[in-house]
Amino acid sequence: MKREYKVTTRSAEETKQWARRLAERVQARDVITLEGDLGAGKTTFTQGFAKGLGVSGVVNSPTFTIVKEYAGRMPLYHMDVYRIEDEFEELGFEEYFYGEGVTVVEWASRIQAALPEQRLEIELKRLTGDEREIIIYPHGERFEQLRKELLE
Ligand code: ADP
Ligand code: MG
Repeated sequence: MKREYKVTTRSAEETKQWARRLAERVQARDVITLEGDLGAGKTTFTQGFAKGLGVSGVVNSPTFTIVKEYAGRMPLYHMDVYRIEDEFEELGFEEYFYGEGVTVVEWASRIQAALPEQRLEIELKRLTGDEREIIIYPHGERFEQLRKELLE
């Protein structure tokens, strides 16, 4: 069974704040995957994450471009692979995953086979009102360590 850890947030701000703390601890080639229904908060999470990386400017959903790149203390590659079907191999995701920056992937399960083994999997669930559950599944020792730093 996969190990999972849960955090509940009560506002978009709180989710952003949590993501920001994560971003302050990531390094180049880290991959964060985001799952959750439409409106669960994946893009909101990414906005907070971008802040924590030092990105200035607006981060919104890259649905039509698949990948958007932002400049922070290292590059942020923000992907939304919702519309991807079989063409994903052609897009060369490896260049991002193993590149100079950190990658955040919305709807990552759609490119499951292309994901690196070591990654931080995050699921967002809508509870009531503005409450969201952030469920964290670390894959690999590095992300297990990161998870400990964030939740202790
Ligand atoms: P997704 O990318 O998963 O489709 P978005 O981040 O675009 O979702 O939308 C989430 C919406 O829910 C935003 O309008 C955000 O302000 C709102 N929201 C309310 N409460 C929260 C919360 N606790 N965490 C994240 N978003 C929240
Ligand atoms: Mg989104």
